Amino acid sequence: MTSETITPAFDLPEPTLRINGQHIGAHAGQTYESFNPSTEELVTTVAAAQPEDVDTAVAAARAQLEGGPWSRMSGSERGRILTRAAQLIEEDAHNLAALEAVEMGKLFHDSVRGDIPAAAEAFRHFAGWADKVTGTTVQLPDFGPQRRFGYTIRQPLGVLGAITPWNNPVLIAAWKLAPALAAGCTAVIKPAEDASLSTLRLGELLADAGLPDGVLNIVPGLGAVAGAALAGHSGIDKISFTGSLRVGKQIQSLAGDTFRKVTLELGGKSPQLVFADADLDQAMPWIAMGNFYHQGQVCAAGTRVLAHESIVDKVIEGLIDAAENAQIGDPFASASTMGAIVNGRQLDQILRYIDIGRAEGAELLAGGGRVARSGYFVEPTVFRGSNDLTIAREEIFGPVATVISFKDTDEAIHLANATKYGLNAMVYTSDLSRALAVTEQLRVGTVWVNGWGVPDPALPWGGRAGSGIGRELGRSGIEADTEEKTVHIGI
Ligand code: NAD
Repeated sequence: MTSETITPAFDLPEPTLRINGQHIGAHAGQTYESFNPSTEELVTTVAAAQPEDVDTAVAAARAQLEGGPWSRMSGSERGRILTRAAQLIEEDAHNLAALEAVEMGKLFHDSVRGDIPAAAEAFRHFAGWADKVTGTTVQLPDFGPQRRFGYTIRQPLGVLGAITPWNNPVLIAAWKLAPALAAGCTAVIKPAEDASLSTLRLGELLADAGLPDGVLNIVPGLGAVAGAALAGHSGIDKISFTGSLRVGKQIQSLAGDTFRKVTLELGGKSPQLVFADADLDQAMPWIAMGNFYHQGQVCAAGTRVLAHESIVDKVIEGLIDAAENAQIGDPFASASTMGAIVNGRQLDQILRYIDIGRAEGAELLAGGGRVARSGYFVEPTVFRGSNDLTIAREEIFGPVATVISFKDTDEAIHLANATKYGLNAMVYTSDLSRALAVTEQLRVGTVWVNGWGVPDPALPWGGRAGSGIGRELGRSGIEADTEEKTVHIGI
């Protein structure tokens, strides 16, 4: 296969904070450096928001909510802005995808085909909701001589504080911002320090789409400084966090003191249940993709492959084949099927887990090492093991599959549910009755039957247990960004 490397000309957005429509430096001139993980070279220096900056950003968002033009805008006008935003995101797809490839090593063509259109779709979907945020009416029984009537109204929840991870920056920003803006909220978003440029670019596109200044404010910065300041800020009404279980726990406890709403989208250690009657020709590409797509840096990755004992060898063969045929390299090369790991720390963590797997007696069947070249690249790795191994219990966030065999459906369900996480599960079978019965018993937020992919904005997304609290997207996403008020009227 020939590999063509096309690095499109792309524009770096202003690497500053964006508050009230202005590009500004951080308090006391604080900055951090962003590196390209494929080359280990500096991409740019980004302003690092301080607590004082977060105060300013929250005040700007609050001002728009309380009397600013945004607060008086009709739902249909908000919808028009979001529709324009969807179109501008699509037109800017190459730019946005290039920023993500440069900053965090994701394949350029995967972003162009996947994340960016999906982000645009989220804006388009929620544009349609903006003038359909309604309450309910209830004809109440009379109260003595008084006739009564009751209804509810849904009002914007207020100022949203959004904190996002580096692995799908624009997409996850879209999942948080599109429903919030459709509902009439304002927002302050803190993107991850490893990949904030595409979110800054998204801010420019939303402004071009007509979003009034101050409705969306962007405060790039370090998690422990800017993130903690936003999560603990008394001026926000909701914190919506996507990231690790470790930080999610801190956010939850900070919110406990303030009674604000919290949505947590955390990690996963998701099972892929492959039954004896699965059509493996159809299933194997999905099973492999569930482990190796985006170098395994996907919350929904299916890194515990539970296969029936009669077909486990075939599943292993398919995964080894996928691992050995992966084209690991330049995220801009058309032939690459896997790009770089986001940074050196994450690469070391993946290699450490691979060592733990070996030390605990898992059988290494493919991969297992760093790719010998500059940049942070790791081989897709396949282990045969059991559900009690560390590599089968903890989220590695790298391309490391553990294949575990089961004897019958009960054991498969038991193994699938034996985890602290509960984000999603994949079920492969040709028997629809089995698919439905198994689906009912899995303790997860989402089940994919005979496939895997990007959550659709029309359907809710979220986890259970260690994978989080609350739902984003779909009607649930709108409900999560509005407050319902009950009105009783005596006539
Ligand atoms: P992370 O938890 O390290 O960081 C996430 C965000 O939190 C970043 O913006 C970071 O700067 C910020 N942060 C860090 N410390 C903070 C603190 N003390 N207070 C407030 N904010 C703080 O996660 P990551 O490494 O960026 O992302 C990977 C994780 O995200 C994985 O666990 C993955 O499964 C999860 N994830 C979940 C979903 C989902 O939809 N459930 C989607 C994508 C990623």
